[in-house]
Amino acid sequence: MQKKRSMQELNRGKGKSENKSLNKTGNNATKTEACPYALKCGGCDYQGIPYEKQLAEKQKEIQKLLGGFSKLYPIIGMEEPFYYRNKVHAVFNRDRKGNIISGVYEKNSHRVVNVDSCMIEDQRADAIILTIRKLIKNFKLKVYNEDTGYGLFRHVLIRTGHVSGQILVVLVLSSPILPAKNHFVKALRAAHPEITSIVLNVNDRRTSMVLGEREIVLYGMGYIEDTLCGLTYRISPKSFYQVNPIQTEKLYRTAVDYAGLTGKEVVLDAYCGIGTIGMTAASKAKEVIGVELNRDAVKDAIANAKRNGIKNIRFYNKDASDFIVEMAALKAKCDVIFMDPPRSGSTEKFLDCVALLAPQKVVYVSCDPTTLARDLKYLTKKGYKVEKIQPVEMFCFTRHVECVTLLQRKDM
Ligand code: SAH
Repeated sequence: MQKKRSMQELNRGKGKSENKSLNKTGNNATKTEACPYALKCGGCDYQGIPYEKQLAEKQKEIQKLLGGFSKLYPIIGMEEPFYYRNKVHAVFNRDRKGNIISGVYEKNSHRVVNVDSCMIEDQRADAIILTIRKLIKNFKLKVYNEDTGYGLFRHVLIRTGHVSGQILVVLVLSSPILPAKNHFVKALRAAHPEITSIVLNVNDRRTSMVLGEREIVLYGMGYIEDTLCGLTYRISPKSFYQVNPIQTEKLYRTAVDYAGLTGKEVVLDAYCGIGTIGMTAASKAKEVIGVELNRDAVKDAIANAKRNGIKNIRFYNKDASDFIVEMAALKAKCDVIFMDPPRSGSTEKFLDCVALLAPQKVVYVSCDPTTLARDLKYLTKKGYKVEKIQPVEMFCFTRHVECVTLLQRKDM
């Protein structure tokens, strides 16, 4: 079982009982313990800042960027803003004394900060990484050296299922050959019987990308499953999956609620990943079409629809902009668009075709308010009005914010 430190524990011995008062977002987190890695690690922007203040900062930032468009609701915060990350990545290296270390890159550099446990990562994952570090040493294996290109162990990526409890360990190696492979896997499983799958990912290129193309399943199914909003999904190593499962349910419920579906609509789920938003909406729509660039994610999405018995959804492995151009050329019917692009936002090509398809509603899920503001500005010139924006906290301790925006056609 994962041992979670509660807010009370974290605040214990710090005097005043500030944490007992609930703030507007319903969370009781007002203080934080300092993270020992905060000064070097580039992961968190808000370490040492009380959680309530972090939320206020985010609200202020969004207000500045998006307040001019429409009503902005208060951000939905977390009650326990710790250990939420279900995807944990660590890079291997050696310190000056030659000890094997693992962790994150120091801010703006390729120096590795050795991290034993992180306040925002799933603690089961952190414990497994420590074991892998020991096993590399015990098995006399080598960690990869970025400068020379020699060595085997490059990264480890761990995905944990919040509901299922399943754990996938992806060992990213520079070669497909892991000496004493079976013993290594056996030792790792013996130390962590909670691991449900182990995959060897081969990354033999001099690149800063974590994962390579080739995957060899060493144990289990090669993916994890997890449940969100009542549906169960398979998630492969390379597929995108929201990193904060507790908040994702709030995010998706808001998005589907904003779509106001009645059962008659044809819905496009653009940038659909493994199909989660589209499938959450499918029971309330006539038909859903998902489009996604990542091949593995689309394979997962198809398997997920089957697994959940959802028959009114189809997936296409394409660039979202190219796909919507085809839809517009065919004058396809489309009543609602969910769009959830990466941080870079969408493209003018995509947004032009949104205007051509003219769905009544566009529900824009964004993880970057700057590109969201840019795209909203464009859409408001193309016949859409921003009705409301709901920020949702997905990335506690970092400056990142997720927002769900509802746009309606102005002539409706
Ligand atoms: N809606 C999903 C995924 C959101 S993340 C969820 O909530 O889980 C953004 C997704 O866009 C990723 O899966 C990424 O692979 C995909 N993507 C990135 N560029 C794309 C493009 N040009 N066309 C289609 N999908 C793209």
